[in-house]
Parts: sequence; C-alpha cells; structure tokens
Amino acid sequence: MRVRDSIILKLKPYEVEKKEGLIYLASNESPFDIPATLKERILEEIQSVGFNCYPDIMSDEIRAHIAGLLGVDKDEIIVGNGSDEILLYLTMTFAGCGGCVVSPSPSFSMYRYYALVSGAEYVEVELDEDFSLPVGKMQTLFKDRNVSVVFIAYPNNPTANLWDKDTILRILTSTDAVVVVDEAYFDFSASTLLPHLHDFPNLVISRTFSKAWSLAGLRCGYIVANKELIDILKRVKQPFNVNILTQIVVKTCLHNHHYLDDVVRSIVAERKRLQTELSLIRGIELYPSYTNFVVLRGKGVTANALYKKGIVVKEFSFKGEVFLRVTVGKPEENDIFVSTVRELMADGD
Ligand code: PMP
Repeated sequence: MRVRDSIILKLKPYEVEKKEGLIYLASNESPFDIPATLKERILEEIQSVGFNCYPDIMSDEIRAHIAGLLGVDKDEIIVGNGSDEILLYLTMTFAGCGGCVVSPSPSFSMYRYYALVSGAEYVEVELDEDFSLPVGKMQTLFKDRNVSVVFIAYPNNPTANLWDKDTILRILTSTDAVVVVDEAYFDFSASTLLPHLHDFPNLVISRTFSKAWSLAGLRCGYIVANKELIDILKRVKQPFNVNILTQIVVKTCLHNHHYLDDVVRSIVAERKRLQTELSLIRGIELYPSYTNFVVLRGKGVTANALYKKGIVVKEFSFKGEVFLRVTVGKPEENDIFVSTVRELMADGD
C-alpha cells in the first residue's frame, strides 16, 4: 500500500472524545437545539419525501434562499456537507499539488490539513503579540512565494478576535491568490466582507449552519464568490454532497430564521456573563471575543486539569504561552466551568 505523500501518514485523525458525564465546551457548537415547533414541521416534511432518490444535486432551494437573504446571485453560491467540504475543494482546486496555502497562526487547525492532503505546501504566519494580523509579513510572502490560497478566519478561531476590515482589504489588494474569508462565526460578530464581493474576484466568503444556526449535526455550509469561481468548484464537487434530510432541515430553518436572533442574543448574553464571572477570579486573563467561545489564560488552568474535573475544553499555544478556548455552554455548564476555574486557581495560590 503506497500513500501518495508520506506527509499524510504524519497527520493525526481529527478526534473528539465524547464520554457520558463530561461537560463538552470544546467544539463551539450551539448549546441549544432548534425550536420544537420547527422540528415538528421538519418531521412532517420528512414523512412526505422518498429516500429512494438522490437529493437535489446543487441544493438549489437552499442556494436560492441564501441568495435572497444575502442579496447576491444564486450562481454565486455553492453549498457543502459542512463548510469544511467546500474549504477542502477550494484548496484542492486552487492550491493542489505544488501550490502554496497561507494562513495566520494560530487559526482553524483544518486549514493545514486541507493543504497537506491536497498536496500543497502550508505556510503559517504567526500572529503579532496582541493577536493582530501580521499584514507586512503576509505581503512579503506574497512577493516571495507563489501563494495560491489564503485562509483568514474572521473572527479568528481559536483567538476569538475580529481584525479590522481594512486589514483584510489590504491583504486582498496585495495578492491575486484566492483569499478565503471564513465567516463561520459571522452571526456573533455581525461583521462581513460581503459588501466587497464584487470588488475582488479573488474574494471567497465561507459561512456555516453549524454555529448560531444550531445545526452542527446536520452538516451544512456554503461559500459565496464570483460566478466564475463557483463554476470551477461545481466541476470538483461530489454530485450529491448534501443529503435529503439536511436539505429539508436547512430549508425549513431558513424559512423560519427568526429563531437565530434568539440563539445569538442568548449566547452573547451568556458569553458576557461568563467573561464577567471569570474576570473576578484573581490571575485569570481574558481576551475579547466576537464568537461563541471565550479565550482565557491562568496559571494551572489547563485543558488537562479541567478534564480531570469532567470538563472538556480546547487549548492552544501562542508565543510559548498556553491559552484556553472555551465554548459558551448552557448557563449551568458555564457555572460549573467558572467554579472549577476558581477552584484550580485557588489550588495554585
Ligand atoms: N471554519 C471555522 C473557523 C470553524 O471554526 C469551523 C468549525 N469549528 C469550520 C470552519 C467548519 O465548520 P463546518 O461545521 O461548517 O464544517
């Protein structure tokens, strides 16, 4: 058995360990399911649909609905089995073997995977001290290297911050590489590059139904870009990538999108409460968040120490320091998290 590139053997499978009794604040999922009335409507729809035929090949109704919401053309949208799927297609298509993918670091860990499994080189540019974007270093890379794809999570995961829009525009004007502005957390930041879609043929905007829309289990995301770029991706896309059940659920949720405001309002209020409670613990350093997760640092508060107390969170390192990325959970989960951090900090005194 010969693998195309030995680098694939060095990759670790993406694993999420789920065990009964643990509190999971590690995947930036919504703590809320969709409203029960919506579920009933979805179940009725499902009853009336045969499972024996393939789903709509392009998820056309979803595309049309999103186009209406965003004020773009349907042909400027492609829908995926999670935004993950389309991000991989983008990398395969525009970087692929011999191409070069650039992303700030730390950022969404999958960008590196997409690059390496596509046979592209992956170059990360370390963020500056206060998580700011090293535009100068990126511009130098654009001059020195033949960069094909740039991934920018906006807001950034795992640092939760939102860069100045002008900074992203400066990057867009300095390269003709495909610049993917990954707006997975857009519903929490309310800041988007979408108004600039027609100014830059290389701008791609990615969104997901996995966060504020509370549909992570259904797997659906999409990208918006100029029609020519979307037409290219249509050639790469698997024919029936979004299954019938997901298409029904997403369509129904789009038709009843008002629940989204409640979800965002509740998560943002809970995030603020969580940050206030944490800020009262001596030794905890907190960072601004435009997402559904919080970022903090405190001596002795590690993912491992929290795991031993039954709480699963993500950890990342930056300039030799360890930071925690903690999803805003249900109020009772957040309470347990805060009191555990308090306990761990007291132990370290
Ligand atoms: N981009 C970012 C920045 C993310 O944080 C995530 C999920 N954690 C994704 C993309 C992937 O989302 P999806 O569920 O749509 O594949």
